[in-house]
Amino acid sequence: MKLKVDQLSLRFGESEVLRRMSAEISETRVLAVVGPSGGGKSTLLRVLSGLLRPDEGQVLWSGGPMSFREKDLLAYRRRVGTVFQAFNLFPHLSALANITLPLVKVHGCSPEEARQRAETHLNRFQLLAHAGKKPGALSGGQRQRVAIARAMAIQPELLFFDEPTSALDPEMTYEVLEAIREVREEDRDLVLVTHEIGFAREVADELWFLHDGKILETGPPQQVIDQPRTEEAQRFFERIL
Ligand code: ADP
Ligand code: MG
Repeated sequence: MKLKVDQLSLRFGESEVLRRMSAEISETRVLAVVGPSGGGKSTLLRVLSGLLRPDEGQVLWSGGPMSFREKDLLAYRRRVGTVFQAFNLFPHLSALANITLPLVKVHGCSPEEARQRAETHLNRFQLLAHAGKKPGALSGGQRQRVAIARAMAIQPELLFFDEPTSALDPEMTYEVLEAIREVREEDRDLVLVTHEIGFAREVADELWFLHDGKILETGPPQQVIDQPRTEEAQRFFERIL
């Protein structure tokens, strides 16, 4: 993907959450976004995935500028997959139905095709034995893998992950990172907000350090993590590494 974020601004009431944020990448498969909590990472991801409209500025993907008109956003959201921190499955539906329902209702699949796609993806993430269980009967790691399987089953052009492991203990974190590695093997672009810096270093081609509504550093992960130029990034990486 190519991506350019140009002077993005977004306010929630009085508080300015994205502050004329700009950055640019080209030929990147996996973009990782890191930085301190409250800096605007989730907000940026919601703009990029078509869930929030910025007050000012532009987003340009490989194909051109993103349209933030309601009608265009609805179409755009069908082409991207999103996996959030936690609690994004329907609690009253089985793992299988969590995957088939959006395929049928939003993506126009026949029930038969939806079932086939769901089973393929459940199998791929070692979840077939859990197909009939509701989220409450699954572990945190299994739930996140169902969420990833659901996002993959729609065959999105782009996948967004927002701290998919931050609610998990280390063992389950490992399972979910393995699932993301598996996703990365495919020819699919990912944008990943994460606090797993070692993982970001391993899987990302490009890393953005976001602080207080601005992108302060961009570059290859090794470079930004090992030789941060700004004091803010130095402090952040010192504290967490
Ligand atoms: P991060 O993901 O980096 O932790 P967020 O994008 O979630 O940061 O939040 C950035 C800032 O915006 C925070 O100060 C947060 O409290 C605020 N914020 C986020 N969402 C909302 C909202 N829906 N309404 C009001 N303030 C919000
Ligand atoms: Mg966040």
